[in-house]
Amino acid sequence: MTDSTGPVILVGAGIGGLFAALCLERVGIESILLEKSDELADVGAGIQIGANGSRIIHQLGLQEAIQRYASSPSRGQMMDGQTGRAICSYPLNESSLKRYQLPYYQIHRGDLQRVLVEAVKQRIPNCLRLGSELKEIHQDDKSLSVTINSGEQIKGRALVGCDGIHSRTRELLFEDGTAEYTGNIAWRAVVPLSKLVESVNWQVPKVWVGPGRHLVQYPVSAGDALNLVACVETDVEEAEQWHGNSSADGLSEAFSSWCPEVRATIALAGNALKWGLYERPVLSSWSQGCATLLGDAAHAMLPSLAQGAVMAMEDAEELAHALHSENNTPKALQQYEQRRISRCRKVQKVAQGNLNFFHQSSGIKDRLSFKALASLGQGAESIIANRYGWLYGYSGPTKGFENGDSGASPNSI
Ligand SMILES: Cc1cc2nc3c(=O)[nH]c(=O)nc-3n(C[C@H](O)[C@H](O)[C@H](O)COP(=O)(O)OP(=O)(O)OC[C@H]3O[C@@H](n4cnc5c(N)ncnc54)[C@H](O)[C@@H]3O)c2cc1C
Repeated sequence: MTDSTGPVILVGAGIGGLFAALCLERVGIESILLEKSDELADVGAGIQIGANGSRIIHQLGLQEAIQRYASSPSRGQMMDGQTGRAICSYPLNESSLKRYQLPYYQIHRGDLQRVLVEAVKQRIPNCLRLGSELKEIHQDDKSLSVTINSGEQIKGRALVGCDGIHSRTRELLFEDGTAEYTGNIAWRAVVPLSKLVESVNWQVPKVWVGPGRHLVQYPVSAGDALNLVACVETDVEEAEQWHGNSSADGLSEAFSSWCPEVRATIALAGNALKWGLYERPVLSSWSQGCATLLGDAAHAMLPSLAQGAVMAMEDAEELAHALHSENNTPKALQQYEQRRISRCRKVQKVAQGNLNFFHQSSGIKDRLSFKALASLGQGAESIIANRYGWLYGYSGPTKGFENGDSGASPNSI
């Protein structure tokens, strides 16, 4: 099908779908954003956004709105969870500004969503359609349409499944099975700063690492609250969902032998949501005719590189560029996926490597790496920053694809 008329139908108003609508609007392409929920709820969790995501936020003119809610700490601290000793500091905003002239953000997911929804409503008034669940896709070489829960059929130039890890679009297009459990669960909680002791500087993000588990903490809500993500290996499978099980059961036990600061922090996470962590392997092709995938639907990954949502933002930007520069929709989608697949595969692999490293999966080798990092003192920060140039320095579609393989290898932070 080569017809380039009609809107782009985006399925799912999560981070990927909202960014896609805004990126398409920026290049003058009309879209309809179908969301199955009747309302977009404010979900309690934090999101870290590196320079490769903040570049897109700034290009969309959302910098001021985001900065009302985000924190941008200069650096973080990697800690040994068992002994409580510092291992090394790792680069955040200071290095990001110096290297990429772009900030690093930490923001409550609900705040990010609010900024995006407001921008979509203001810039594309009739785009967002709540209570609209994709049911079926109809496609031949002349036309494309979808059927939603009300029975309505909607025609479009293209269909983009931004419908998350349990994507209906992916199921309809590829029937490649369900998401795979990674053997890890996470508890996520947001604790108001007023509940925390004053003797600790909570504005400094920390990653506490140790055998089989890690804990990430960083400020959100303009520094007024602390986001906690505790990740633990377990064979007992849990569901994955934004509106997950509200349960701190098992959390304190999992960290009971760790240092007093970790135990005290964990004790505050009584409102934690429990999640199973799942992945979707990156397919060798994401597109079929005029339909494609974006975000977690295409490449759900572990959160240990903090890049799932940022990859969805990059997808959105590349998709808009491809559809803008190529009128033939199937060809445009081929170009889009060619620019995304190897990068997303690599990011997924590095996220897995990071998790193994945090959890000391290779035992003595990882412990020696921690020692080596500790011995570098201040130097550790620039070594880590150098390893990630390929990730955060990605310059997007207009300046060409920097696929430099000089970057991080799995098992490195
Ligand atoms: C513990 C944890 C920490 C994380 N931390 C970070 C981080 O720091 N930085 C980062 O970049 N990423 C992070 N991520 C990853 C990030 O949350 C996801 O990658 C991101 O939310 C994916 O966005 P999405 O738009 O692809 O999917 P989702 O946000 O899941 O959105 C999918 C949307 O589609 C809708 N939908 C589903 N089916 C249908 C249908 N049939 N019809 C219509 N609508 C439908 C859903 O209701 C939903 O609104 C983290 C993830 C976890 C689990």
